[in-house]
Amino acid sequence: MMLIPCPWCGRRDEAEFHYGGQAGVAYPADPSALSDEEWAKYLFFRDNPKGPFRERWCHTAGCRRWFSLTRDTVTNEILA
Ligand SMILES: [Zn+2]
Repeated sequence: MMLIPCPWCGRRDEAEFHYGGQAGVAYPADPSALSDEEWAKYLFFRDNPKGPFRERWCHTAGCRRWFSLTRDTVTNEILA
């Protein structure tokens, strides 16, 4: 079990949350200018580091707000 610190509700069980993937993936400024390969890379390619990883979470069973945190993917320790 992992406790995730919601910025608005405090620490809650991970079962209350929905994982949203890598944080900081910006929508392309001009999506129509992208090639199919660039568009596929934006949609499907994400980093998969062993260690600290910035990611998005939604407190779906609580306040329903989205937020970002840094989690160590090896230990599940929440770093920030
Ligand atoms: Zn919350």
